[in-house]
Amino acid sequence: MNKTFKEPSRDIKVCHEADVVVVGGGPGGHSAAVAAARNGARTVLIERYGHLGGMASGGLVILIPHMSDGGKEPQIAGLCLEWMNRLAKIPGGMVGPTLDEVGSSDPRVLARWKNHFSAIVDGKIRLTWTVDPEMLKCILNDMVEEAEIKLSLHSWGTQAIVEKGAVKGVIFESKSGRQAVLGKVIIDGTGDADLLPTAGVEFDGALDAKLRSSMLALVFRVGNCDFKKYNDFREKDPKKAQELSGELAKAAGTFFLPIAGHRDDVVWVNNWIPGLKSTDVDDLTKLEVSVRRMMRKGFEFMKKNFPGFENSFILDTASQTGTRGSRRLVGEHIVTAEDMNSSRKFDDTIAVIPKIAPGGSGGCAYIPYRALVPVKMDGLLVAGRSFSSDKIANDSMNLIPHCCAMGEAAGTAAALAIKQGISPRKVDYKTLQKTLVKQGAVLPGINIA
Ligand SMILES: Cc1cc2nc3c(=O)[nH]c(=O)nc-3n(C[C@H](O)[C@H](O)[C@H](O)COP(=O)(O)OP(=O)(O)OC[C@H]3O[C@@H](n4cnc5c(N)ncnc54)[C@H](O)[C@@H]3O)c2cc1C
Repeated sequence: MNKTFKEPSRDIKVCHEADVVVVGGGPGGHSAAVAAARNGARTVLIERYGHLGGMASGGLVILIPHMSDGGKEPQIAGLCLEWMNRLAKIPGGMVGPTLDEVGSSDPRVLARWKNHFSAIVDGKIRLTWTVDPEMLKCILNDMVEEAEIKLSLHSWGTQAIVEKGAVKGVIFESKSGRQAVLGKVIIDGTGDADLLPTAGVEFDGALDAKLRSSMLALVFRVGNCDFKKYNDFREKDPKKAQELSGELAKAAGTFFLPIAGHRDDVVWVNNWIPGLKSTDVDDLTKLEVSVRRMMRKGFEFMKKNFPGFENSFILDTASQTGTRGSRRLVGEHIVTAEDMNSSRKFDDTIAVIPKIAPGGSGGCAYIPYRALVPVKMDGLLVAGRSFSSDKIANDSMNLIPHCCAMGEAAGTAAALAIKQGISPRKVDYKTLQKTLVKQGAVLPGINIA
């Protein structure tokens, strides 16, 4: 339909003035807000849902993998490791190899974690955890409260406020109506880079249909299953297990992959739905309706045929659509597949990403601070999967720990910029790196002296 309606202009209430305003409370945005506040910035965090955590909680993507590369030391620590340390104190809060086990190739340790997805790559234990999404929501709230961040849940950031070449605030919608919040640095942690179109900032929305990042998902969980029994069956009869997996896909109409949950009686079911866009409301609606239909058929099949699923039930479906890739900032540096594959290091590296593919790919990839900084617009940073990158690099470098690391860097840089009265793009890289390391992040292999 081509019909339009001219929205009348009106004054709206400015409800807060802050140093840093973060929109989106997922791994990237939450980490940005906490880092900014801990570095002394008066910080506002705006999140559209009633909880924090993004894909890691509301999306039911409860696997937080590859914080190490097979060696003994983590490549990603900082706020993501703090999540884990906090969850480890809560009975049942998370499950995964201990720090002592990381890097081990001891057969007894490997046997312990063999069914824990992503815990073993090339015969070595990686720092990989599976979390209880409800407890994750709770500890993320704790971190926000402790840092004295002004949190607005149920608040949907809709428009960047731009004046004289800089982003100066955000308009958001909530049950309280349409309001504005002003800030010195605005951080887009929406994952989909929702602020970039209205900020007039260049972005790339192209996705490659062959890559995982082009596929949406609606994750669901199955409860009261016996995952050990299921895994014993798969180990004993891998051919039959593979056949069943194919039959499940036929019955459901899509491929469903059950993955270990944070308890033996819970699995989360991953899926890959092609041809739909995360920024198109009709596509999002189609996804919610069609995957629930497929889930019912698939679940019926699993319950009837998968050993260990006899008494199971559908525990829940994700409140957040599974978006693996969306708009990406065109920033001061675009991280490319070549950067990633050649393990190119940068003077302004702020995150070190262990490579994932098994089979000796080895090494790490690196994200520079400039991938969070728009080319022209001042006062704006991105945090999370919308970092400036090409399709291939983004596909491998947007996992939850990566987004936490980018968020921590964005929030820290924003606070440094405000303290020094400079634009975020002018932040001194070495000062940023030293501050990150001082607060618990790690940048192995990077000379920060
Ligand atoms: C199905 C699936 C499986 C995956 N598997 C894994 C895995 O096993 N392990 C792993 O580490 N990664 C996995 N990923 C990738 C990972 O989950 C994401 O890349 C990561 O969570 C991105 O973090 P983020 O903070 O950038 O965005 P998100 O996690 O999407 O968080 C964005 C936050 O912003 C909020 N928001 C969005 N728009 C607005 C707005 N306009 N106003 C206010 N708030 C807003 C959202 O509600 C959300 O809280 C998977 C992704 C999917 C979809």
